[in-house]
Amino acid sequence: MFDDLRDLYQEVILDHGRKPRNFRRLEDADREARGDNPMCGDRMQLWLDLDDAGRIADVGFQGKGCAISMASASLMTETVKGKTVEQARTLGVRFRDLAMTGACPDCEGDEDLERLQALSGVHEFPSRVKCATLAWHTLNAALDGAEEASSE
Ligand code: ZN
Repeated sequence: MFDDLRDLYQEVILDHGRKPRNFRRLEDADREARGDNPMCGDRMQLWLDLDDAGRIADVGFQGKGCAISMASASLMTETVKGKTVEQARTLGVRFRDLAMTGACPDCEGDEDLERLQALSGVHEFPSRVKCATLAWHTLNAALDGAEEASSE
C-alpha cells in the first residue's frame, strides 16, 4: 500500500476513534444488541430504529474499546444509516472480507465500501480483525433480534 494512502486511513481511524459518530443511546429503539470482544476488551451496545419500509432510520452505539473497535463502529453507523436491512447485511459481508483479506474487489466506485476501506489494514494483524468486525457482528445480532454478539 502507498504510504500516503496508509496515512489517510490512519487519520480516518484516529478521527473516528476520538470522535465517534452516532455515539448515543436511542430511546425506545426497535432493536438493540450488545457486542463483546473478550480478546481485546472491546464492548459496545447498539440501538436501531427501523422504518416501515425496512430501512435503518436511525442507529446509535455506545461502548468502550480500542481505537479500531470504536472507529469501526462509528464508520459502520454512518454507513448503514438509511440502508435497508438487506443492504446493511451485504455491506457487513463485504466488510468482513475486506478486514480479513485487505482486498476489496467491489470497492471501486462504491462510496460506502470506499469509506470502510480505511480499516483494510487490520488484515495484517489477525488479532485486530475481531476489533474491526465487532460492530458488524453486533449489527447482525440486532437485526436478528439476538441480544448478544460475541466476536468468538
Ligand atoms: Zn480492540
